[in-house]
Amino acid sequence: MSRNKEFDFDSLPKASKDSYELQLKTPDLTCLAGVVRTTCGDTISPDAISDAITARFEGGSLSIPVLAVKGAGQGKTLVATAGVHGDEYEGMEAIYRTFEALDPSNLSGTFVAVPVVTLPAFWQATRANPVDGLNMARIFPGSSSGTMSERLAALMLEKVFRHADLYIDLHSSGRNNAMMTLVGYAALGRQAETARAAAECFGAPLVWEHPKVSPGRTLTETLKLEIPSLYTEARGGGAAHPDDVDCYTRGLANLLAFLDMAQLPAAGLDPDYDPLRLCGDGDVDVSMRSGNSGLFFSDARVGMRVRQGELLGIIRDLDGTPLEEVRSPRDGVLVMFRTNPRIFAGEVLLVVNA
Ligand SMILES: [Zn+2]
Repeated sequence: MSRNKEFDFDSLPKASKDSYELQLKTPDLTCLAGVVRTTCGDTISPDAISDAITARFEGGSLSIPVLAVKGAGQGKTLVATAGVHGDEYEGMEAIYRTFEALDPSNLSGTFVAVPVVTLPAFWQATRANPVDGLNMARIFPGSSSGTMSERLAALMLEKVFRHADLYIDLHSSGRNNAMMTLVGYAALGRQAETARAAAECFGAPLVWEHPKVSPGRTLTETLKLEIPSLYTEARGGGAAHPDDVDCYTRGLANLLAFLDMAQLPAAGLDPDYDPLRLCGDGDVDVSMRSGNSGLFFSDARVGMRVRQGELLGIIRDLDGTPLEEVRSPRDGVLVMFRTNPRIFAGEVLLVVNA
């Protein structure tokens, strides 16, 4: 594969639009092909998997794609990432569409996007990085001498995030869960009001304010740098719902307009846009978890209003024996919900925001 240029924010040519790459020094990844094969079933040629992985792994380094558009005019920098978790696809397509739509001659400032941050997790379609088992959204700022994920976090922070005037990390619920389509922000520090205003103009059906951010997330580090920072979630479930891709694409266009960088055709809000607004802890990793392994079935849907103690589902042993009744821990809105019936003890079941 012919390599793109190494991404260097400070040397981007004026009025340019190009694909670059970040080089991450990492141990041999070809062994990953065997791991990925087990998640793809038996219908895919092993060579196809090996080829896809080795095409981005050469000379001891992994090539992570970066898309950058530097405008003819001076202006701010919007940084967007997707694929921090490997099974969340909506943000990837929204970034590609935004990159395609941008014209450097009509752009003031710089758009930088990393559409697939954690490549091994993407190949395996998992939340965590299969190389070291780490969740990329819990290990920032990382370490240049750590495991692959830790080095990737440090590289992203140094080469990409620190240049942002506004940062957005595009997530969704991944293959095991469903989430409401939302934009979230932390009401913390000097950036809080800008983040709130940006979140309001993004255009998601739910705007979720958080009084704090858990350690290790991308936003945790950008907030330390006082960069206004947003993230998104969406239905997910291992797919990319077209309405969510449209929502994210419109949201990126709205942020470019918010920063006075560009006016894309995708920008705009419905005249009667009036999102649901919630405030609460947004960390799905501290949500209600399963106490048992087995099969989980439920009639519940994200977005439902639920009452404390309301029966939302049941976990059975494989012989049908009921093991656990899943009940809402509080009155509120069901923001996230397990959709994959196969469940192991300790996996996330649901998040209810009061
Ligand atoms: Zn995620």
